[in-house]
Amino acid sequence: MKRAIYPGSFDPITKGHLDIIKRSAALFDEVIVVIMHNPDKKYLFSKEERLAMLVKSCNGLDNVSCDIGVGLSIHYARNHQAKIMIRGVRSIQDYAFELQTASANMWIDDTIETCFLLAKPEYSFLSSSSVKEIASYGESVVTMVDDYVNEELVKKYQNK
Ligand code: ADP
Repeated sequence: MKRAIYPGSFDPITKGHLDIIKRSAALFDEVIVVIMHNPDKKYLFSKEERLAMLVKSCNGLDNVSCDIGVGLSIHYARNHQAKIMIRGVRSIQDYAFELQTASANMWIDDTIETCFLLAKPEYSFLSSSSVKEIASYGESVVTMVDDYVNEELVKKYQNK
């Protein structure tokens, strides 16, 4: 039984994240998409709002579940008997950052493998932060996120 976790901020989930989730679900028996807190980031959506969006976007993917974690991703993986940690890589910059994190995680627990999946070319310039920046100016981001996420962004920025 190969259980993987896919940790991240998902503020909000984009089509790039969803592609990684679907490809992971095809590779492993079970995938847990988990919202982790990054102290360096300021979030637009609460953890609960982000979880609700993850659940909605992953609806129909039978071996995928969604959760909110606390502390380190590697501890979440260990506590949930997951031996694989998935990360998406869009660029050399992502790789440099991910390499550092994955190496640090190996010091903590080398029985858990980090698995890098390359972003699809069409999603390699897609990030939650660019989606938020574009949406904050009232521009639609329906090509980058699920329709309902676009609507949630519109609501969020209307109330700001
Ligand atoms: P964080 O960077 O805070 O962990 P994110 O939600 O931004 O959280 O990203 C989670 C993971 O998904 C990271 O490994 C990131 O590189 C990857 N990712 C983000 N956007 C994309 C994309 N468009 N295509 C593929 N992977 C992506």
